[in-house]
Amino acid sequence: MTSAQQPAYDHVLTGGTVVDPASGTDARLDVAISGTRVAAIGTGLAADAAKVTDVTGQRVLPGLVEGHTHIFQHVSKVGAPPEEAHLRRGVVAAADAGTAGASTFAAFRTLVVEPTEMRIVDFLNVSVLGLIDFRFGELLNPDTLVVDDALETAAANPDVVRGFKIRLSEDVVGEQWETLLKKSLSLAEQAGLPLMVHIGETSEPLPVVLDHLRPGDIVAHCYTGKPHGILDGDAILPEVLAARERGVLFDSAHGKSNLSFEVARRAIAQGFLPDVLSSDTSARNWRGPVFDLLTSMSKLIALGVPFTEAVGRATVRPAALLGLDGEGYGRLEAGGPAHVTVVAETEEVVLPDAAGNSLTAPRLEPTLVLHHGAPVDTVPWRGLPAE
Ligand SMILES: [Zn+2]
Repeated sequence: MTSAQQPAYDHVLTGGTVVDPASGTDARLDVAISGTRVAAIGTGLAADAAKVTDVTGQRVLPGLVEGHTHIFQHVSKVGAPPEEAHLRRGVVAAADAGTAGASTFAAFRTLVVEPTEMRIVDFLNVSVLGLIDFRFGELLNPDTLVVDDALETAAANPDVVRGFKIRLSEDVVGEQWETLLKKSLSLAEQAGLPLMVHIGETSEPLPVVLDHLRPGDIVAHCYTGKPHGILDGDAILPEVLAARERGVLFDSAHGKSNLSFEVARRAIAQGFLPDVLSSDTSARNWRGPVFDLLTSMSKLIALGVPFTEAVGRATVRPAALLGLDGEGYGRLEAGGPAHVTVVAETEEVVLPDAAGNSLTAPRLEPTLVLHHGAPVDTVPWRGLPAE
């Protein structure tokens, strides 16, 4: 082939529906890739491609961005495998939510952030220990919250540390929850970063906690079925709506024990969608009931979150919140990095929540994942029965 006949594009995905909430695109379009970049999005691009993949009937999404997970593998008892449970299931960027603290961050950076292909950022645990072993609350000794250590770690690692995390459950913070929360907010304020607050089984009702939070701070586990969640009976607490109104963000963070289908169904029916739709994957749940981000999305879609809203909350919204939008994460656009997750709907399967309930719904399965333009070696869903 002479140079005049060289195809314009290396790879074109054709026949699929592009769903990119960042640009408001929801249409049957081709996506053309050249090298590591998206070269064009439009119609009739397949005629000029070296390689064509037919994705008819499937949806072409930006590579997913996981807003809350635990991937400090080998060091923390809750650390799930970053690539097997994320990249190889369609997630190209992820935020670890407080598994590492200032004293363990260097290991997190060396063992997880640097060798892993996907982009990893971090909410640094306010306890210098981090969440190393869930049996022992990391703030039961309140002296482990060392403001200077947290600030120094954040300042030295601005490419990774994008916020702080405090787990506010009674078994983690003990009786000093309010002092510890105030100290955490003050350090977050000094660093100019958000604070993520893990709720469920806090010692006080949620409105008491919300009273402290600033715009941009994040409430993790908004659909928890544990005491002190967002509901009062069937209705969303007015203090929760007021907090959202002034800019406090809510993260669904499924987790091993913090997604109740009953709570989610009622909240979604009242229009209360999570700002960030995340899985809270960990070593304790990536083989079920959580599995991965796409399964968490499938569950909330089944409970009433519109498909494009679910995608936006697992792409452009967390990318912006984590400061990854400038690197092109969370969107599909010509000139941007070619991070693409193509999904198909499976037949209906039984999907469990974290409270012993289940629902029957189709599941989103990644059929093709491109990371910087290159196909990722995907792995099958962990919930499939053994053959
Ligand atoms: Zn978590």
